[in-house]
Amino acid sequence: MDKIHNFSAGPCILPPEVLKEASEAVKIWGGNGLSLIEMSHRSKPFVAVMEEARAITKELLGLPDRFEILYLQGGASLGFLTAAYNFIPEGGSAAYSDTGTWAAKAVKEAKHLGHIEVVASSKASGYNAIPHTPSVATKHSYFHYTTNNTIYGTQYKHIPEPGVPLIADMSSDIMSKKFDSTPFQLIYAGAQKNMGPAGTVMYAIDKEALGKTGREIPSYLDLGVHLSKDSMFNTPPVFSIFTTLLTLRWLKNLGGIEAIEARNNAKSDLIYGEIDRNELFTGYAEIDSRSTMNATFQLRDSNHQEKFNAAWTDAGISGINGHRSIGGYRASMYNALPLESVQVLVDVMKEFERTI
Ligand SMILES: *Cc1c(COP(=O)(O)O)cnc(C)c1O
Repeated sequence: MDKIHNFSAGPCILPPEVLKEASEAVKIWGGNGLSLIEMSHRSKPFVAVMEEARAITKELLGLPDRFEILYLQGGASLGFLTAAYNFIPEGGSAAYSDTGTWAAKAVKEAKHLGHIEVVASSKASGYNAIPHTPSVATKHSYFHYTTNNTIYGTQYKHIPEPGVPLIADMSSDIMSKKFDSTPFQLIYAGAQKNMGPAGTVMYAIDKEALGKTGREIPSYLDLGVHLSKDSMFNTPPVFSIFTTLLTLRWLKNLGGIEAIEARNNAKSDLIYGEIDRNELFTGYAEIDSRSTMNATFQLRDSNHQEKFNAAWTDAGISGINGHRSIGGYRASMYNALPLESVQVLVDVMKEFERTI
């Protein structure tokens, strides 16, 4: 087996040149004879990394000046709580969309901070589609949604218009396509799905909307505290942020979001084309809700499972078993996955049809 085709849902494939540069930096980096991970985060070279990471994120996402970027710890899972803490006032409320496991976890955490109304849900249909977004009462501070549902393979194809500001968990499709940031107050995303290794979470914050809750917020959960310290309130996860920066530089060199969006569309067209053509398989998500990042599908006849699993394993494919909560298969096609890997999977599916 000469090449692994890594379809892992996260942590996931990173560009080979990023892995090379990151591994070299672990040995020696920054011109002081030290490793990246054995020097002070307040040293000049690392402060420059943090500044560039924050700037390139804003640049690639095309965010206007009202936004500030942070790279913190705690993952998107702490983001669920942080979002609510910083944007729901004492005694206030917010509207949420429940489109999957992560969206439901966001609801659960926000309930610690205020009255949460789930105004849209696809739970009844096994989260296989994106529900319509209704207009919500203006008493709600914001509408929270998960742009891409990593486990179920569904994705919002448009920006919801609930009539209140938006907060989004973009963990699994950040940096994959262009979007209009106008209605957003807060965007957050764990790095390990499309930006870098595990260990850091990105927040893009409308600083003008911050600090209006009247709450006492514990320091680490207070985004204002982190902004006032330029994302250096405490020791940042230096390796994750550095490697995320390398990945974002790679993306910029490639032509930025526009270029990667075209590549991502080509990959998802290829896999969904085969899922729809090949009668041995069926897609999980409804067609108009399909994710360009995570394609979920099943064998129509589960008796074929063992043989199909052997076929893709033999072809060097890794990581396409579906999440334990829905089974079947999930091909995660994040930015760094080449079209060639999707072609290998499609060829395995075609060959499997011929031999069954
Ligand atoms: C993976 C994932 C999370 C959880 O991220 P952590 O960084 O592990 O907390 C949250 N939301 C979405 C959409 C995800 O895909």
